[in-house]
Amino acid sequence: MSIQENFCPKCGGKTENEGLCNKCLRSSVEWLVCEPRVQCVFCPTCGSIRKGSIWTDVPYERMKLAEELAFEAVAVHNDVQDLELGITMTEPTPNRTLCTVYIRGTLFGEPVYKTCEVLIVWRKEQCDRCSRLSGGYYESIIQVRATGRRPDLYERQRVDKIAHEVEDSTQESGERLSFITRIDDIRDGVDIVVSSHNIGDTIARQIVTEMGGKITRHPKLVGEREGKKLYRITLLLRLPQFRKGDVITHKDRYYEVRGTDSGLLRVFDLREGISNVLHDDSGYRLIGNVREAETADVTYIDQDMAGILDPVSYEIREVKAHAWLRLTDHEKVRILRDPEGGELILVG
Ligand SMILES: [Zn+2]
Ligand SMILES: [Zn+2]
Repeated sequence: MSIQENFCPKCGGKTENEGLCNKCLRSSVEWLVCEPRVQCVFCPTCGSIRKGSIWTDVPYERMKLAEELAFEAVAVHNDVQDLELGITMTEPTPNRTLCTVYIRGTLFGEPVYKTCEVLIVWRKEQCDRCSRLSGGYYESIIQVRATGRRPDLYERQRVDKIAHEVEDSTQESGERLSFITRIDDIRDGVDIVVSSHNIGDTIARQIVTEMGGKITRHPKLVGEREGKKLYRITLLLRLPQFRKGDVITHKDRYYEVRGTDSGLLRVFDLREGISNVLHDDSGYRLIGNVREAETADVTYIDQDMAGILDPVSYEIREVKAHAWLRLTDHEKVRILRDPEGGELILVG
């Protein structure tokens, strides 16, 4: 059997194809279409770009973005195989980037090669996020307070850090309109003002996870926006009454708070030297925090009693030398004073 011979209907040449030969196919195909001018709207503050009405963050610098836009402006026919693209760029003016794109490939068995020029025109516009941010837009306020006291400096700094960490991860997950509008450090605590309900709830939950406390949510209707009811939510977050390191007393016993878990206090019993769990139901009186403990000299040990040199009055005060403290004379021990009665409490 002989190989069937076909002839091209256009040029009459021999071909293995049914229909046009490769050469005629190549000349009949417009294999490269190139947009000569592309406009890119970007936010001068944060670098986001707008396509249609949608803003998106661009995680890389402008030259990489220009390269991507230039490649998008080039349309190559599906039949081109082994496609290779190259690019060079110049910036004739600050808001223009001229890209030369080099396109190489194989079309119906023969190499093909072309270049095209794409002018990228950069146009500045404030993005949705930056305009909300500069306008002080907000949807939730987290009021961080504490039960029966004011949050201390350490707690305020921690709350601030947690809020910013949540903001970073929310932005990374693509929720570009969730941000912290501002943080106000006020006398009674910290107000975290945020742009969306979701980031507000997430920050509040994260603070409670790491620091304990309770949240109550108070929504308030403030109007309508594009036919949707608009609520502002106040999240009142009460940190626990006691912080880590607080020494509390109940029925003549002293405990150091080691943590709080949903209504329970994890404590260290300063008499027995053991860990314990107490119900957090406000029957406790605060003595102080171990961070504020004074250092005192142990002057003598007499069986289960110890003589402590009071660093303020220089009197020798006799206290119980609880076994877990393993006190020895002429060593140091850390003490707190009970504001009621002035008893010395050895904290280790
Ligand atoms: Zn032909
Ligand atoms: Zn922006």
